[in-house]
Amino acid sequence: MGYQAADNRYENMKYRRTGKSGLLLPEISLGLWHNFGDKDSKSTQKAILRRAFDLGVTHFDLANNYGPSAGSAEKNFGVHLARDFAAYRDELIISTKAGYNMWAGPYGEWGSRKYLLSSLDQSLQRMGLDYVDIFYSHRYDPNTPLEETMGALATAVHSGKALYAGVSNYDAQQTSAAKKILESKGVPLLINQPRYSMFDRTAEASLFDTLGLEGIGSIVFSPLAQGLLTNRYLSGSVPKNSRAAKNHFLKPTEISAEYLEHAKALNEIAAGRGQSLSQLALSWVLRQPTVTSALIGASSVKQLEQNLATLSSPKLSLEELKLIEPHAIHGLVLKR
Ligand code: NDP
Repeated sequence: MGYQAADNRYENMKYRRTGKSGLLLPEISLGLWHNFGDKDSKSTQKAILRRAFDLGVTHFDLANNYGPSAGSAEKNFGVHLARDFAAYRDELIISTKAGYNMWAGPYGEWGSRKYLLSSLDQSLQRMGLDYVDIFYSHRYDPNTPLEETMGALATAVHSGKALYAGVSNYDAQQTSAAKKILESKGVPLLINQPRYSMFDRTAEASLFDTLGLEGIGSIVFSPLAQGLLTNRYLSGSVPKNSRAAKNHFLKPTEISAEYLEHAKALNEIAAGRGQSLSQLALSWVLRQPTVTSALIGASSVKQLEQNLATLSSPKLSLEELKLIEPHAIHGLVLKR
């Protein structure tokens, strides 16, 4: 059956301005790091993407290496895109990144001009696109001059292969330096993509302040701490089909007694607001005025719908924030 997007798709989603740019992003965006690889069900992928767009999610985030195997998420996304979303390309913000290991040899990772621009061409080919909306340097490269890495992003924008430039996993200082260089080349730095959740509060130290001052947006990844801030593991066991069971990025050992104590306390606070734990976790990251969008993953339509329903909840009160604070523990779980 051909896909026809829902007529009411813009009725309930909220959009925020990305820093001082003209670009609006949905408060919740969908990432394809997991669940869109070789082994994942194509019909579930199709259903998640269609439902997301029908509910106003206009932004899909990818990277060269998403899968597994690396590149397969872009390839699969390209198939869904051509079949379902070709008519809606101008309603979509599609991002990709280069920075982590992608191919053999000295030019397959980090921040050289050679790697970034070759990788962008490969990503466009895999997705069947002429351009992406946002192209990111996926991580800061301490061994390549920032001038070179930003030069490659500027070339991507000037050549029309990307509309905007972004950085991910750059700290406050690196972000300011990147912005300065990009601006000297006539390209604004649109956005930073840091990790941020109740269990990783690194961005609060100085990154959010810097982004606010510099007028740069932010889209925060793993706001559900890869599922730890959902009901997935609250019973203390690891469900067979969960990320902790399937994937080395989240280890069963993270379901510790200490984790369970805080996750259960947060779950109770959520219940007191009529929310699920995942909804509380999303309300919490979205309370930050410098956060443009919360970048979630979902392995089912049900998870996606539950997460998007967050946007109809009331804002967190000062009282609720105080209750959450002792349980929003930075570093409680392992980093990626
Ligand atoms: P989340 O923290 O949102 O974790 C998503 C996972 O949590 C899902 O796959 C699912 O896991 C579980 N989950 C989600 N919703 C629910 C729910 N309502 N109930 C129960 N379980 C739920 O984000 P991700 O870690 O997936 O990251 C999101 C995106 O951020 C990525 O796709 C990518 O685009 C980006 N990212 C960027 C990085 C970077 O370096 N720039 C690094 C990492 C991510 P399960 O499989 O167990 O069902």
